[in-house]
Amino acid sequence: MGSIDNFMELNVSELNEHYVRLKEKYDEYKSQNLNLDMSRGKPCSEQLDLSRDMLDILKSDEDYRAKDGTDYLNYGGLDGIPEAKELFSQVLEVSTKEIIIGGNSSLNMMHDTIARAMLHGVYGGESPWGKLPVVKFLCPSPGYDRHFAICELFNIEMITVDMLSTGPDMDTIEKLVSEDDSIKGIWCVPKYSNPDGITYSDQTVDRLAQMNTKASDFRIFWDDAYTVHHLTEKADQLKNIFAACKSAGNPHRVLMYSSTSKITFPGSGIAMMAASEENLNFFRKQLSIQTIGPDKLNQLRHVRFLKDMDNLKVHMEKHAAIIKPKFSMVLNKLESELGRKNIASWNEPKGGYFISLNTLNGCARDVINMAAEVGVKLTKAGATYPYGKDPRDRNIRIAPTLPSIEELEKAIEVLCLCVQLVSIEKILS
Ligand code: PLP
Repeated sequence: MGSIDNFMELNVSELNEHYVRLKEKYDEYKSQNLNLDMSRGKPCSEQLDLSRDMLDILKSDEDYRAKDGTDYLNYGGLDGIPEAKELFSQVLEVSTKEIIIGGNSSLNMMHDTIARAMLHGVYGGESPWGKLPVVKFLCPSPGYDRHFAICELFNIEMITVDMLSTGPDMDTIEKLVSEDDSIKGIWCVPKYSNPDGITYSDQTVDRLAQMNTKASDFRIFWDDAYTVHHLTEKADQLKNIFAACKSAGNPHRVLMYSSTSKITFPGSGIAMMAASEENLNFFRKQLSIQTIGPDKLNQLRHVRFLKDMDNLKVHMEKHAAIIKPKFSMVLNKLESELGRKNIASWNEPKGGYFISLNTLNGCARDVINMAAEVGVKLTKAGATYPYGKDPRDRNIRIAPTLPSIEELEKAIEVLCLCVQLVSIEKILS
């Protein structure tokens, strides 16, 4: 197919001609009975293989013992083993007193934090959030669908805030939180954000830490899920928000979360939460009713396997070596198929798990449906926005890690065809 530049400069018959040619290609794919999935950010099997040695790393009785002789085969240790606190406090840049190591899922920890806030309030708060007539959360979007699902479950009203290249739109946020005391929190994926791949600027971090909130019990849910997940040698630097909150006199404002889901095994990793000692003591009391303690053996396996920050870095470089060619392939294809056509834009993430594609307004849903018809599954339309409603119907989240590079190439070709077909329909309508 000859190269076609800016769609906006083509006349009706040129657009129609192009449409027919693209449609033929699309029908060809239809006959191939494809079954390709780019919908969820899961590691591929080669990535999982990187951590296989962890599975039988604990062998002798001595391997199950702490330095002080504590037997990890038995009950004990409500908030995680010291060895895990030592390692992951360095990952999150907090002290060992400011971290709890939990079970297998950070999402679970976030859910439980909100459930407890609804039932019991938060440290220093005046009332359980659930007793208030309305509770609202700020949701920088596009964002992580499962954060929004937690809000929906607890009937927390979500306010969509635009993401800018520096992070969420802080002018809007500062205004909203200063005026409305029912706004109790904000979701943030501050590094290599899901799905935009944006790392918040220092100024954004400072403004979040310093802003005046009408609610005295406002909390930032800082989901640092992709903190060590770099794709390039020159990693993005994220300013330490906890330190910024402390200097701003708001030490209890931030609750930080992360996990090893995309370091070792998703669903069988370990999750962590970091916050002020006061916040954590408040949670520990509730946690002690909920559980006798987390899976210490999995924590131990992780520490023995990941060892220290230097080794963790090497491990993450191995992940990057596997997935970077997939990201590059997607980006090259997007450029060759959609570049200069003026119908789509996308980010080039330096880390994380996603590429975020924006179509012309009003096209994303049709593109996703059209791709599904030929067996290419993408994240549901609207999923990256509160209530599943993308106000501009333009965002498509591409998750390149799971499929093989061959499958991915085909899936992106189909996606690019669909973007062009739907764009032409839109321009001609
Ligand atoms: N937070 C973000 C931003 C994610 O993208 C994901 C998974 O995709 C999670 C949390 C889930 O983490 P976990 O497996 O620790 O529950």
